Amino acid sequence: MKFSVVTIFPEYLEPLRQSLLGRAIEDGLLSVEVHDLREQAFDRHRTVDDSPYGGGAGMVMKPDVWGRALDAWAPPGSTLVVPTPAGRPFTQDVAAELAGAEHLVFACGRYEGIDQRVVQEASTRLPVHELSIGDYVLAGGEAAVLVMVEAVARLLPGVLGNPMSAVTDSFGTGSPGLLEYPSYTRPAEYRGLPVPPVLLSGNHAAVDRWRRDESLRRTARHRPDLIAALDPSSLDERDRAV
Ligand code: SAM
Repeated sequence: MKFSVVTIFPEYLEPLRQSLLGRAIEDGLLSVEVHDLREQAFDRHRTVDDSPYGGGAGMVMKPDVWGRALDAWAPPGSTLVVPTPAGRPFTQDVAAELAGAEHLVFACGRYEGIDQRVVQEASTRLPVHELSIGDYVLAGGEAAVLVMVEAVARLLPGVLGNPMSAVTDSFGTGSPGLLEYPSYTRPAEYRGLPVPPVLLSGNHAAVDRWRRDESLRRTARHRPDLIAALDPSSLDERDRAV
């Protein structure tokens, strides 16, 4: 799979070459290209923004510069992702959907964002996703791209050392709609706090049941909205008692 990022701050995307992603690039599982939007600017100041029609605060990124950038770097067959707080929420399900694409191109906005006609025009020839990583406003799309690329890449075959991690993770297919249970490792006692005894019992069925209970409790505590959205038929008697 190929990830391309278009930005006015190419160096911001350096972390894409670190850690899990760096290894996946070395292993040939994915490739990452970062492009400087200013290469597509028209004037000697390499201007990428202008004042908003209708007045108001801030500057808007110019459609003609973005148009050239997408003509150059978002070829037919690619999928365009536009990070924006005004987009559809980026969730694990969306990450899984994007993991099926061959080539994702991310358009990083700055200032007040990108002239809306860029999305409108690109949508006539490419799948386009306007996606928000949360209900808050960042200064630019770069941090959102780091989040989205990492979430998508770890779902690609071979990227995670143990593919079961993605199944048991929060929002994973193992326990749909639930947060993951808490995890523990050695030592068995830490600052007076013991590991829950069931995890040392060797009884796999009991461990699974404890994990399911903790998962439900944790989800109820931190994300009651997820509990409310659960399909009742996915819950057994014991789940309902938790
Ligand atoms: N005026 C825009 C609004 O209120 O919807 C906010 C623009 S924001 C200051 C600049 C850029 O940061 C956006 O174009 C987008 O690329 C990025 N951005 C900010 N918050 C984001 C979020 N929650 N999710 C994804 N991208 C975000």
